[in-house]
Amino acid sequence: MKKGKIFVVAGPSGVGKDTLIRKAVKGVERLHCSISATTRKPRKGEIDGKDYYFLGENEFEQKVKHGEFLEHKQVYGNKYGTLWEEVKGHIQSGESVLLEIDVQGALDVKSEVKDALLIFIMPPSLEELESRLLNRKTDVTSEIKTRMGTAPAEIEIGKKYFDIIVYNENADEAAEKLAGILKGE
Ligand code: 5GP
Repeated sequence: MKKGKIFVVAGPSGVGKDTLIRKAVKGVERLHCSISATTRKPRKGEIDGKDYYFLGENEFEQKVKHGEFLEHKQVYGNKYGTLWEEVKGHIQSGESVLLEIDVQGALDVKSEVKDALLIFIMPPSLEELESRLLNRKTDVTSEIKTRMGTAPAEIEIGKKYFDIIVYNENADEAAEKLAGILKGE
């Protein structure tokens, strides 16, 4: 049986990855959206096992020790990782898997799985990115500063190492482009 593909979507915080992905995956068949593990505390409305697997530090470290992660990284002070369990069985059964992770984790996936496709979501500008972060009101000011501080370096990595760049100027058009990529068009 033909194996499924790994799609990795990354981009700076606030670029609108969640919304784009939600729109794009609607018409795509045989695609599993990987649920990451994290040591971050759940935000209001987030559900364990749906948004993330929320783990304690020890639990996370045990999984690292036992080789359960395809990749794992410290992002903005918390640990995040993609579990092999979220990927392996699916691709073996011919289902593709979509990971929404940070740029460093994306590079690790590529070095582990050579034919993974790295998709970078690019903001129209840094100014626009900042205003989107300010508007979403889920982050405190210090967090917004941290997230804005890392954006230029992330964009450089995206331009240099990612396979495809999707510009998120218009959400509907960008979602359509992403859907096309996920369908292999
Ligand atoms: P948030 O805390 O806002 O949900 O996510 C913060 C950052 O962590 C985002 O850039 C997100 O893409 C990244 N992230 C989420 N899950 C993973 C993962 O499994 N691995 C890595 N490397 N980054 C992740």
